[in-house]
Amino acid sequence: MNVKIGKSTLALVRGDITEQEVDVIVNAANSGLMGGGGVDGAIHRVGGPAILEDCKRIRRERGTCPPGEAVITGAGRLKARHVVHTVGPIWEGGGRGESDCLASAYRQSLLRAKEAGARSIAFPSISTGAFGYPVADAARVAIETVAAWLRGDGEERKVVFVLYDERSLDVHRRVLREVVQGGSP
Ligand code: ADP
Repeated sequence: MNVKIGKSTLALVRGDITEQEVDVIVNAANSGLMGGGGVDGAIHRVGGPAILEDCKRIRRERGTCPPGEAVITGAGRLKARHVVHTVGPIWEGGGRGESDCLASAYRQSLLRAKEAGARSIAFPSISTGAFGYPVADAARVAIETVAAWLRGDGEERKVVFVLYDERSLDVHRRVLREVVQGGSP
């Protein structure tokens, strides 16, 4: 599913983010930046040790990456040019600023990608695995935040949400339709 947002395109695909041919792949990392399970593990496995070396250097120079922020590294053996590592919130019921933190993770990632000159950016569904954020709620935050950012940015870019399973893809399709039909976010 593809939707035009100003000059830009927002797309939903089902797949493995490590196989995407885009300028920037976003990783749902944790604050330690030392790798982990889920999409983080897959990116480091496929990308090879160069990504972890970059993460370690960032840790040494700047410390951990707090939730809602994002850092950029090389992409090792991945087809992308860079990986943006962002840290989403751990779901604690929704009353602890989770949606603001998730929106910030998307915006900061887009900013790092823009600074690197990226035209195409792939996101996983941040926080909806080990971090426990309900997929439908996370999808709404993700889609509204990215759509609003693309409108404000004004340059031509493509953002792809890469959903790992059919259910996540279905939920994102439904939310994207609602956001598009409900007018501009
Ligand atoms: P978090 O800790 O932010 O919740 P996870 O990696 O546990 O991150 O999960 C985030 C989402 O990424 C989940 O929907 C999970 O199914 C999905 N995912 C896992 N592996 C991949 C992959 N290789 N490509 C795209 N999405 C993936």
